[in-house]
Amino acid sequence: MSIFDVRRQPRAHRIIQRALSSGRLPHAYLFHGPDGVGKELMADRLARILLCESPIRPAEPPEELGEFTGPLCDACGRCQDCVLTRAGTHPDLHLIHRKLHRYHPDPTVRSRKGLELTVDVIRHFVIEAVGTKPARGRAKVFIIREADRITSQAQNALLKTLEEPPAATFLVLLAAGLDKLLPTTKSRCQPVPFGPLPTEFVAAKLSELLTGISPEDARSYAAMAQGSLGMAQRYCEDGLESYNERVIETLGRLGVVSVTRIAKQWLDDAKALGAEYRNRDKGISDTEAQRRGLKAIFSLVAAWFSDLLHISTGGGEAIVNTNHARRLAAARIDPRQAALAIRAAVDAERHLERNASTQLTVEALVTRLARIAPATPG
Ligand SMILES: [Zn+2]
Repeated sequence: MSIFDVRRQPRAHRIIQRALSSGRLPHAYLFHGPDGVGKELMADRLARILLCESPIRPAEPPEELGEFTGPLCDACGRCQDCVLTRAGTHPDLHLIHRKLHRYHPDPTVRSRKGLELTVDVIRHFVIEAVGTKPARGRAKVFIIREADRITSQAQNALLKTLEEPPAATFLVLLAAGLDKLLPTTKSRCQPVPFGPLPTEFVAAKLSELLTGISPEDARSYAAMAQGSLGMAQRYCEDGLESYNERVIETLGRLGVVSVTRIAKQWLDDAKALGAEYRNRDKGISDTEAQRRGLKAIFSLVAAWFSDLLHISTGGGEAIVNTNHARRLAAARIDPRQAALAIRAAVDAERHLERNASTQLTVEALVTRLARIAPATPG
């Protein structure tokens, strides 16, 4: 249970270790980067250090750190505080997330859907809680999940707390993207970038975590997830490979089978995928679930064409669809066609984000693709 459980994030480790050893830890951190690469694990382990009675100095510098030479810091793992943080019951470690509205004293707040971190939740669970004394006296840590879903109103309410929290109070905001955060929020936090994990590492982790997964599938899910272990695990749970199989199959029939038929299949698949997402996140509507499912289908389309682009330009090592090598080799399209097709898929994804009709977006994409890369007979 060490901070070095967070793997393959040397830059983030170096920033945090430097701050810990200097004794000048910022009051507010903003961990940003793709989902499923270790941001929350790092926040949890940092909290353990901050709450630990007697943090230790590990002698062996982990390979994660590369050339880092300064002193290292980690939680002792044995004190009462460490026991409590490990059990998830430390009274001074506050995990803030969208679903907390269910525990809000106001019934109207409780009755909401919890799609965002609203001002009521932030005020009650962060701002007011920051004002009280730590229960065990050492420090208080607030980890805010999905900080990019804090409403602007709530971000404004939080500014003062981010700027000057009481002594020994630390906030760690976790965000996949930075564009939804106000400049005033960002400027009050020390940013810590988290990068995508190496595909081979994700594949190895997947094989370790999921018994029975074949090395080919592990490799393929890892590549699809583009460096996110969390995503790769979810893709695996959703059986995304079988959707991918169908997407690739339909792409081989572009211009042969009608646009309506392909569009219908993608929409049906998006619905089925959406149902998986709803199982995990009950807060989202059916429409939103299908929309997300469709985005996943579009990213499979983009992945297929980006593989073809890589192959046609001689960069075969970045390929996602390693277990469809034969089909990739058989698909004859030139780099220009592949680039146009990727652009079409990305455009369609953007349209969805702007709440365009799912049906029209799919049909427009299939029409465009059939024009760019029609199936070659034989
Ligand atoms: Zn300890």
